[in-house]
Amino acid sequence: MVKITIDEKQFEVENNLTIIQAARQNGIHIPHFCWHPKLSVSGNCRVCLVEVEKMPKLVIACATQVTDGMIIQTNSGRVVKARNAVLEFILINHPLDCPICDEAGECKLQDYAYKYSVGESRFEFDKVRKPKRVELGPNVMLDTERCIMCSRCIRFCDEIVNKPQLVFTQRGDHVELTTFQGQKLDNDYSMNVIDLCPVGALTSKDFRFKARVWDMSATDSVCVGCSRGCNTKMWVRNNEILRLTPRFNSSVNQYWMCDHGRLNSFKNVNAANRVNAPMFRKDGMLIDVGWDEAMARATSELKSFKKNEIAAFGSAHSTNEDNYLLAKLMNHMGVHRIDFVPHIEDAKQDSLLIKADKTPNSTGARLVGIKSDTDEYSYRAIIDDIRNGKIKALYVLDDDIAVVPEIAEVLPKLEFLVIHASNENQTMKYADVVFASSTYAEKHGTFTNFEGRVQKNKPAVSTLEHDRVLDGMPLSRLDRFGAHNDRWTKGIKRDTRASWRIINSIAAILGAKWKYNKCEDVFNEIASTNSSFYGLTYENIGVTGAMIQKSQEQVTVRS
Ligand code: SF4
Ligand code: SF4
Repeated sequence: MVKITIDEKQFEVENNLTIIQAARQNGIHIPHFCWHPKLSVSGNCRVCLVEVEKMPKLVIACATQVTDGMIIQTNSGRVVKARNAVLEFILINHPLDCPICDEAGECKLQDYAYKYSVGESRFEFDKVRKPKRVELGPNVMLDTERCIMCSRCIRFCDEIVNKPQLVFTQRGDHVELTTFQGQKLDNDYSMNVIDLCPVGALTSKDFRFKARVWDMSATDSVCVGCSRGCNTKMWVRNNEILRLTPRFNSSVNQYWMCDHGRLNSFKNVNAANRVNAPMFRKDGMLIDVGWDEAMARATSELKSFKKNEIAAFGSAHSTNEDNYLLAKLMNHMGVHRIDFVPHIEDAKQDSLLIKADKTPNSTGARLVGIKSDTDEYSYRAIIDDIRNGKIKALYVLDDDIAVVPEIAEVLPKLEFLVIHASNENQTMKYADVVFASSTYAEKHGTFTNFEGRVQKNKPAVSTLEHDRVLDGMPLSRLDRFGAHNDRWTKGIKRDTRASWRIINSIAAILGAKWKYNKCEDVFNEIASTNSSFYGLTYENIGVTGAMIQKSQEQVTVRS
């Protein structure tokens, strides 16, 4: 450890840190463009210049290691003057097209120019013109004029993804970012360069020109694209999700997420094929009905079967709470045939983030009771027993099981099929009752990722269910539900319900004595009754998640 002084305050820090790292650890922000905590140091932007006593020249904080007794000034007259000069220099050729730039509102150059520059340019000549609409790859556009040559994007591809696809060409103020000849920026993580780019040079083809940053709300969420559970922010305007960005979690995804998760794990929430209200089959057609009618039909039909003629499929797409209550409902009904269909794909997985299991909660589903005691009761045995007529009624939680050809083949043999579905799907073709369920973006809940980390998810999009629950609640409590901005009042609202709430109501009709008002109550019951979740509470999971008590077998998902 070494003792250093930054801006008259003394700190004790590890001796292998750079000045920028030591300052950051102690809550002092030194402006920077090119430095990033997970990338190598390139030291090219020069904005992080600081003054160190006994050093004749200003030094860059990102590449200067702390030493014992070092006295550092981050805001001395010399530093302020130098920083002004650096910003003036960077802005010489910058197009200043903030009014049409997607980055406006979250641009480091805008922020620093506002905070640290003199606000004037002495440059009286024509700016260098460069290409403004360059397609670098399938997901990323480049505006070459806006690039400040920080090289973060290049270093990310080289060092994090190990796919060197980007490079600078030319010299001086003619430098341009480009891809290597004949290559595209098409790696599985290419869109992280958009987040890394401190300016609006790199933009998302999917999100480009869709919204201003200040018009959206950003809610902490968890990606459901695979069992990694990358932490995300869900950006919503008028109750519609417009983009996902990664949220830092050192134990799960660092600063990154994959392009597949970013682009695909929210599209079903906005999709035109949403199931907007409950339905049941009449004269061969599924028709919209009220919640009470749908529940009455489902419960009366279920009661007409013997318990060994009923089976249930939980879902690795659903939360711990949804699955736990399904298992509890089946237990109440005396039904023991319960499992879920795993979605393990061999194709895509890597050592960075992407997992082969394309569901967010196969670990949690199994741990909260979606498993048969023996192989005889496994989902494959359930399929066999539907085929041979032993199972006549099936309850399916939020999973399009008919995409598996073997399952689609046996579903017509059922006498009664009830499903929870958020979007129209293949399984609906065979369903007698469909409960319109909320997606993960519309409800509270927890997922347990592949290594046993329980992570919380919050609603970013509101439904009519929220209006009912929040109706009459004082403003102080509304804020606790995140109901503090436009997304709760504008845009389309669907008549969907969280699956755990649907099961709660069905259980009440079937005479169960339990009832839960909040998702939090369901989780706390899981934690107090299931040794794997011992010590956890909804509260202490926090924003970065918490690990379950686990043995290796517990988190091994059966394929
Ligand atoms: S495109 Fe953005 S991240 Fe890449 S070098 Fe230019 S400014 Fe930096
Ligand atoms: S790695 Fe998995 S969890 Fe992470 S963003 Fe991609 S799909 Fe989502």
